[in-house]
Amino acid sequence: MNTLSEHTDIYDICIVGAGMAGATIAAYLAPKGIKVALIDREYTEKRRIVGELLQPGAVQTLKKMNLEHLLEGFDAQPIYGYALFNNDEKFSISYNQDESTNYHGVGLHNGRFLQKIREDVLKNASVTKIHGTVSELIENTDGVVTGVKYKEKHTREVKTVNAKLTITSDGFFSKLRKDLSNNVKTVTSFFIGLVLKDCDLPYPNHGHVFLSAPTPFICYPISSTETRLLIDFPGDKAPKKADIKEHILNKVAPFLPPEFETSFANAMEDDDFKVMPNHYMAAKPVLKEGAVLLGDALNMRHPITGGGLTAVFNDVLLLSTHLLAMPNFDDPKLLHDKLELYYKDRYHANTNVNIMANALYGVMSNDLLKQGVFEYLGKGGNKSGGPITLLAGLNRNPTQLMKHFFSVALLCIGNLSGKNKLSLNNVFRIMKDAFCIIKPLAVNELRPSSFYKKNTQH
Ligand SMILES: Cc1cc2nc3c(=O)[nH]c(=O)nc-3n(C[C@H](O)[C@H](O)[C@H](O)COP(=O)(O)OP(=O)(O)OC[C@H]3O[C@@H](n4cnc5c(N)ncnc54)[C@H](O)[C@@H]3O)c2cc1C
Repeated sequence: MNTLSEHTDIYDICIVGAGMAGATIAAYLAPKGIKVALIDREYTEKRRIVGELLQPGAVQTLKKMNLEHLLEGFDAQPIYGYALFNNDEKFSISYNQDESTNYHGVGLHNGRFLQKIREDVLKNASVTKIHGTVSELIENTDGVVTGVKYKEKHTREVKTVNAKLTITSDGFFSKLRKDLSNNVKTVTSFFIGLVLKDCDLPYPNHGHVFLSAPTPFICYPISSTETRLLIDFPGDKAPKKADIKEHILNKVAPFLPPEFETSFANAMEDDDFKVMPNHYMAAKPVLKEGAVLLGDALNMRHPITGGGLTAVFNDVLLLSTHLLAMPNFDDPKLLHDKLELYYKDRYHANTNVNIMANALYGVMSNDLLKQGVFEYLGKGGNKSGGPITLLAGLNRNPTQLMKHFFSVALLCIGNLSGKNKLSLNNVFRIMKDAFCIIKPLAVNELRPSSFYKKNTQH
């Protein structure tokens, strides 16, 4: 096939993937006059079960970028905190420690939100929309990335785009990350998603976490009439169609609150289940001139805490801030230094979000620690207020995260003495389980900068 270089222009930035990361950075940078080529293989609205709950940290970062208006006009719902359920007990925790609603999350249809961001991007004269599938990065003889090769959707021709910087944000099945990182992704579990229609939530405008079932499940509103129910399916093999219903009926249905009865029965009848793998992938970028990774292509965590977009928007703001500190994109050495700084700074921004997500998922798979978390959060005060600011992406201090994590382990040990089960063996087992959960995450995610930088972001 011929390679036609139709785009004779040299763009400041070529963005591969107009998803949450790529479209958002384009929305932030394009109005500043930066010349962008935005490429995606699909521009129609998708129905996905990902990225439907924005934590307050994500909302605050959008505000910082003056992009908060992109959350308006498509029936997105404010989220004021979390409700936890364990057997007959339940309680809620607000994101705000006072009566205010200053900090709130947002529940939404990911596809609608993305279309809104894309619409906003494509209003800018400095953006060229390209509809096609990128196959590879193009490098010059010095190994500098100078753009990408793609197959145009409508003509099926292979074309090239030249740019001073290529941002690779092609999502969790990224084709291009192999050239820019040493990442190893693992599947931690799967999420089965269904929509409950006209369901009155026990705690309106809250995320709900259910701990009594053998497998955790969560739900939150995504519009004024719809609630997303996400059910964990453990292991690294996707459930077969026949397994899905059985899993839900046996491991979830008996633990649902009565308010869900009708909408749940209707959803089961609709039989419209979506399944997605949940990955963990620490960021291990390899610096290469002219290209940078952004979004899930660079770094992933378990979605149980809804932290993905908090990390994505943190990265979008950080990378943009470094790029905007340059007078233009004409100095490759300066550009390279900025990419290096971005990769360094993002550790601090995302340490807690990443550790929290996989640590909480690990805890939920351990009966003793799961009970401990529920009791710890139920005590209120700083024992609930502290962890929720970490979960919300509002507190970046890893010392606080470690303090709360090990306080839960100590509470579990205290519980043993109440049940006359306090023995060296049991204490050792709890501490070992806690260490096994936290140690690999700490090794991957903690850097000295995680501790000494400013810890409250907003
Ligand atoms: C089950 C699940 C639930 C989740 N829930 C939440 C949540 O509630 N809250 C939250 O904050 N995070 C959540 N996340 C994480 C969040 O959705 C992701 O972190 C986020 O969507 C990543 O954005 P991205 O732009 O990197 O990838 P994507 O949004 O996937 O975008 C990638 C884009 O690249 C395009 N593309 C891919 N390959 C090519 C190619 N070769 N050429 C051209 N275009 C290409 C795709 O079409 C797509 O538009 C969840 C994740 C999962 C798996």
